[in-house]
Amino acid sequence: MWIFFVDVAQIQLTFNIDGVPLFKSTNVQLWPILCSVQGFEPFVVSIFCGNHKPSSVEEYLNDFLLELQEMLQNGVQLNEIVKPVEVFAFVCDAPARAFVKCIKGHNAYYSCERCVVKGSWNGRVVFNEEITEAPRTDDGFQNFEYDDHQVGRSPLADIGLPCIKLFPLDYMHLICLGIMKRMLTFLKQGPRECRLSYQQLTIISENMMNLNGKMPREFARQPRSLDYLDRWKATELRQFLLYTGSIVLKSVVSANVYKHFLSLMVAMSILLNSDENIRRTYIGYARDLLSFFVTNAKVVYGETFCTYNVHALCHLADDVENFGTSLNEISAFPFENYLQKLKKSVRKAQNPIAQISKRITEIEKAKCRRIPKKNTPACSHQEEG
Ligand SMILES: [Zn+2]
Repeated sequence: MWIFFVDVAQIQLTFNIDGVPLFKSTNVQLWPILCSVQGFEPFVVSIFCGNHKPSSVEEYLNDFLLELQEMLQNGVQLNEIVKPVEVFAFVCDAPARAFVKCIKGHNAYYSCERCVVKGSWNGRVVFNEEITEAPRTDDGFQNFEYDDHQVGRSPLADIGLPCIKLFPLDYMHLICLGIMKRMLTFLKQGPRECRLSYQQLTIISENMMNLNGKMPREFARQPRSLDYLDRWKATELRQFLLYTGSIVLKSVVSANVYKHFLSLMVAMSILLNSDENIRRTYIGYARDLLSFFVTNAKVVYGETFCTYNVHALCHLADDVENFGTSLNEISAFPFENYLQKLKKSVRKAQNPIAQISKRITEIEKAKCRRIPKKNTPACSHQEEG
């Protein structure tokens, strides 16, 4: 893989930290740290395994940060040329961000990671004021100025990493598994002002079933009925948001609900567009659409709808500008796919780490066989033996 990086000026590392339950019958969970170099397939940096999440973030990150600091200071050597290394992003869901940044959870009053807005209580913390307050800055975070938001000193901040700028608001968790699922759940069984009738839900499900088997093979999954909404994966929710939702909801839901949904769909299509010119041209429009979505969310779905995730939409377009990429490049999708592979490599309860390690070694050897090294043609045959 490293041969691809000979021409790049800088090695950019994107990390992912997440907790994965291993078995339904036990609390055993993995907390891997994954890394992707220049957007290539992730690999494992380290794995914690236990009956609960790591109790000490310092201990959990210690070895990783020592190694990272060494790379940031000295770079990596490729073909006798030393390439500088930088951390591009930490892509994590909200609970994992709270854990490694040592901040309050996403249900807290001061949970917004980008501004100092305070939520209000309506059965849970909601953000109905549709405003953003003064932005949080990396200097402020580093100086531990946000004592209503920070619960301790993050080891990442201790080695000088900018904890505001480096953590994008991953759209897989925030939008697909968060807002899109919440919208459909509210339409299915939410408050009376937005809940659809049994007949409307049946028509939407039938429309979905009519599309089943007709999606191009680029889509990993075919549309399913709303009866299975609880089991919909992130890719199915993304498919609904960007492709099928506008078709199956049309003329079934009210004009208000439809327009509101379209505002999110179009905004996300812009922010996910791989063409930089298109993103740059329409980013202002995407901001306006997201602002419209947030402002009208409580009108369409009721006062309890606007949780942390909905408020975070106000800051989403900033990530596209700050990172200079589409939201796809800073999403958890590739990491999530890799995590599922890791999870599948654990077949029995004893020694999960040993099983994963063995599986990773096997995969590495298989890769080595597929790409014989230039001066060692016998490599593949030796390993096959
Ligand atoms: Zn905010």
